[in-house]
Amino acid sequence: MPNTITENLRALEDKLYACRYAQAIMSYDEATAAPARSEDGRAKAAEVLSRISFDALVNPETESLLQEAAAAAPDETTAAEVRELRRQYDEIARIPADEYAAFTGLVQQAVPAWGRAKRSDDFDAFAPYLEKIVEARRRQAGYFAPDKDPYEAWLDRYERGLTIAQCDEFFAALRAEILPLLKEIQTRGKPVRTDFLDRDWPLEGQKELARRVMDLWGLDPDHCVLDESEHPFTEGFWHGDVRITTHYMPRDVLSSLYSVAHEGGHALYELHVDPVYDFTVLGGGATMGLHESQSRLFENMVGRSRAFIRWLWPVLRELYPSQTADFTEEELYRAANRAEASLIRTEADELTYALHIMVRYELEKALLQGTLAVRDLPEAWNAKYKEYLGVEVPDNAHGVLQDIHWAGGDMGYFPSYALGSAYAAQAWDDITARLGQGVLEAHIEQGDLSPLKDALRDRLWKYGNSREPAELVRSLCGGAFDPSHYTGYLRRKYTDLYAL
Ligand SMILES: [Zn+2]
Repeated sequence: MPNTITENLRALEDKLYACRYAQAIMSYDEATAAPARSEDGRAKAAEVLSRISFDALVNPETESLLQEAAAAAPDETTAAEVRELRRQYDEIARIPADEYAAFTGLVQQAVPAWGRAKRSDDFDAFAPYLEKIVEARRRQAGYFAPDKDPYEAWLDRYERGLTIAQCDEFFAALRAEILPLLKEIQTRGKPVRTDFLDRDWPLEGQKELARRVMDLWGLDPDHCVLDESEHPFTEGFWHGDVRITTHYMPRDVLSSLYSVAHEGGHALYELHVDPVYDFTVLGGGATMGLHESQSRLFENMVGRSRAFIRWLWPVLRELYPSQTADFTEEELYRAANRAEASLIRTEADELTYALHIMVRYELEKALLQGTLAVRDLPEAWNAKYKEYLGVEVPDNAHGVLQDIHWAGGDMGYFPSYALGSAYAAQAWDDITARLGQGVLEAHIEQGDLSPLKDALRDRLWKYGNSREPAELVRSLCGGAFDPSHYTGYLRRKYTDLYAL
């Protein structure tokens, strides 16, 4: 490939990287350190940066550069960079510029309107914004993929290659397994003791516990730091700088612990991407579903396993001798894994979480396909919560208004959350089958996660965003995706836990 093409690609990616880096620092700062009323100056800077990256990407020179590079027999990595740049280019350039700007403006109004509507439990005040968002997303789907179902076009934007047929099959499998399992737990499950979770757990101990978990995960403090924010999240800048956050609850020791476990999984993925992809569009994790597979694997498969609780128990006894005097290691294991039908997705347990996602999947699909009107959404929401989780939704604030996603324009994003858990369960089964039954657990109990991390690095982490997501899913799972690993895992775990 001619040197000039390589140099021009490098210059373009450097500029895009610098803008991404600055924007990421700004949003990290906003969530962790910035004063409450500092948004105006940040919004100004964000606007300028997004204009710079838009102008760098969308122009006739970039268009011809991408064409020339694709035609010049690039090596494998450059071909992947060109493919990813082309995808980002199309994502922006296919929407007419005035419509793109109008949509950005709509979302900027819709998010605060959603916040007000949620606080005052007033769905009608938010409905006009949501109607416009649904309409815009249906129209935009036509620009990306005129022949596709509009919902499928959006699924593909978030989880490249994912289809409605795959999602339908996936959620049908979950429904068939989880609904009866939850019924069994509710009707004849052995009760789980949780009273000891709600007591004073001073924060010094929780902070030390977070440090020990990060140490067990192998998060090098020279490359990964922990901060505090309202909602825990992970921000990766390059393979040498990843930040995670948690939120400490003075009367709940498990909340922050499992946030650190979850975000730590995201961080491990980002930290182990092959350094050759640094500063390019191939750095960082590939899709949201793959990212969630790693966070859920470390939160649930590792963090809620008997092996991890065996490691945790003496640590908790040491940090909190008086708080841990009246319960046992087995009671802690059961409490950390209890399953309860509830109203709020972000507080849901491992078993019922997928049901919350299924409600959103079915509703957002119907909205984009035009078979459900926004004004009928609350009623449809409440009916599904009754059907799947058996709970009555008392008001829209605890129902259809609980998530920010739709206000932010994200429709087609929710399935990734549930898919991630299913990828994780299959990867765990396959790694176990290769290493031998009980090998991972024996290592975790001893505080050694290296066999697991080595396998995940080889199967997924090192590739960053350099491969197609479908190929990475196969590589991670050790074969074609099969949700029965996930449903089988849930069935085994909860049958044992509740003595069914
Ligand atoms: Zn996550």
